[in-house]
Amino acid sequence: MPQDILKQLIVFDFDWSLADQDSDRWIFEVLAPDLRRKMKNLKDEIQWTDLVAQSLRELHARGGTREEIEGALRIMPFHPAMIRGVKTVKANATPETTFLCLSNANSVFISTILESKGLQDLFTEVITNPAEWDPSGLLKLSRRVDPSGPQHSCKVGCSPNMCKGDELDAFLQRHKTQFDRVIYVGDGSNDFCPILRLRRRVQLADMVFCRQYRGLQKRIAKEGEEEGLKCQIVYWAGAWEVEEIFSGLPNTIDTP
Ligand SMILES: [Mg+2]
Ligand SMILES: [Zn+2]
Repeated sequence: MPQDILKQLIVFDFDWSLADQDSDRWIFEVLAPDLRRKMKNLKDEIQWTDLVAQSLRELHARGGTREEIEGALRIMPFHPAMIRGVKTVKANATPETTFLCLSNANSVFISTILESKGLQDLFTEVITNPAEWDPSGLLKLSRRVDPSGPQHSCKVGCSPNMCKGDELDAFLQRHKTQFDRVIYVGDGSNDFCPILRLRRRVQLADMVFCRQYRGLQKRIAKEGEEEGLKCQIVYWAGAWEVEEIFSGLPNTIDTP
């Protein structure tokens, strides 16, 4: 018997998923390519969030300003089809869609970019690393999971700053709504953990929209079966295809 999908949750990774670039790397490519190179050299030695925080301090110490960083964020590649696609889905009455952002970037980068695209009201929640401007114009960034407190116990390789799978589970727990379908849009190897949590109550309801040629596709191919990945996989490469997939989504699911 087909069942109507009345409420759905769409979870977006931010960098290279909603946005068409990686914000942590982009601002240094625009403002200080030597720091970008230094990050590339140090990324296996220093935890990524800490490395971005350190690079922001170095940029500030040499006179980089808040205005320059905000300017770089506003010109970061962001596909018009993605803006159209999510706005259309949000405007539809049925199914009613809740949007959640789950990102390893930070609250300031994400809110600055969303505002510049008129998407500041898209997400019910943005779960990411906390950041704030101090009065001197330094962007102070820290890990979502405080390194001095209890750590997450993820077994599938999430970075210490946050386990995206735990965060998705916690969101579903505290959110009262029962979603008939969860769709996860992601690209990176750190999106593998949360897609393992996609629910299996209703057969083939949950889906991952996986960006091709990047870390998530590789992990699905290599580890998907052994880790028991059950959701439906839809591949895309360009944001225009996400818009197309959204517009063709079935609004019913077949239950066994
Ligand atoms: Mg990403
Ligand atoms: Zn995890």
